Amino acid sequence: MNTQVKQTLPDFRSYPDARGRFGPFGGRYVPETLVAAVDRLEAGVRRFLPDPQFQAELAHELNTWVGRPTPLTRADALSRRWGAQVWLKREDLAHTGAHKINNALGQALLAKRLGAKRVIAETGAGQHGVASAAAAARLGLPCVVYMGEVDVERQAPNVGRMRLMGAEVVSVTGGDRTLRAAIDEAMRDWVADPQGTFYILGSAVGPHPYPYLVRELQSVIGREAREQFMKGAGGLPDVAVACVGGGSNAIGLFYPFVQDAGVKLLGIEAGGRGPGLGENAASLTFGRPGVLHGTYSMLLQDRFGQVQETHSVSAGLDYSGVGPEHAFYQSTGRAVYESALDEEALDALMECARYEGILGAIETAHALAGARRYAQAHPGARMLIGFSGRGDKDMPILQRTVLKEGE
Ligand SMILES: *Cc1c(COP(=O)(O)O)cnc(C)c1O
Repeated sequence: MNTQVKQTLPDFRSYPDARGRFGPFGGRYVPETLVAAVDRLEAGVRRFLPDPQFQAELAHELNTWVGRPTPLTRADALSRRWGAQVWLKREDLAHTGAHKINNALGQALLAKRLGAKRVIAETGAGQHGVASAAAAARLGLPCVVYMGEVDVERQAPNVGRMRLMGAEVVSVTGGDRTLRAAIDEAMRDWVADPQGTFYILGSAVGPHPYPYLVRELQSVIGREAREQFMKGAGGLPDVAVACVGGGSNAIGLFYPFVQDAGVKLLGIEAGGRGPGLGENAASLTFGRPGVLHGTYSMLLQDRFGQVQETHSVSAGLDYSGVGPEHAFYQSTGRAVYESALDEEALDALMECARYEGILGAIETAHALAGARRYAQAHPGARMLIGFSGRGDKDMPILQRTVLKEGE
């Protein structure tokens, strides 16, 4: 399964190419009605992202409003229990409780520069909706968040948070009533007024330039972690581990290490209840290449190419596709992707809560479960784990499952 990483790596930093491709993956598969909007966005990204004034404003907000840099925590108890050296990059301590704010804030700042009158967003777990609502409130932009009906129910606390920060939450009752349907609906809204509306996309997916833009905004995670790990552990990690839904926290952690041949990159997808079609959300592990939401990437589909509905105990990983850069890393052997079952993730979540005093998000728990497995096979490994978010939002599910309340 693992392809050996050669000592001299290809220049992964030269991707995406001018057409927004990561090797064969990525690109821009959008209807005619969206072409002008993505062109305009790409021009804006090219102009403002490298602009020192934009970067200074972003850095200022990240430091004084988001709470960056987030700490790197040495997890002594997990290290002892797993027989490895375990370090956690604490995105759960970022404002609104997950890494998503890095991206939402950056895109909201970009929306302002581009003269947008309102922002829209889609959300699965509700974390990206909350992050977008917060960034929009901070910058004085009206905000509409599309959310699948199923997720509105299972992430009720986040719906309230969005409303309190002034966002309008639209419950999407069509399609699979989760993240995939919410993205469809957000794209429809965007088409209606691509000039006045800025679509804050929540993961490293979608048509070019989104996967690139989101990677650039989330790479702050890996840049900080790299420096903190060198300082704390006296060298680079042997492996960086992150959970993969659309792949934004993972690409943010991985990217600053991508030219470090000695650092293995390990992404953990949602294995759900098992390998059957519809039983998981592990697009890289069980999918095949295809087009979804404007990008060519690995995709869960049946043998007729119909996109599959997914299952995961974690709403934030419950998506049929994955970012094209991950598909590229997998195809080149630069990164390895595995999956963790619902049950394994919940077990790892409890272990971390009980012995480290840190209640992680169920998404994050997948990274912990994958990391624990890696440690068993690689005693003494120096491990950097992307701790993508906190678990408060998951209390209703945790009460029903691991705490067995109301039975
Ligand atoms: C949304 C979310 C994820 C999954 O999204 P990615 O784009 O794959 O990072 C992971 N962890 C948390 C806490 C989330 O909220």
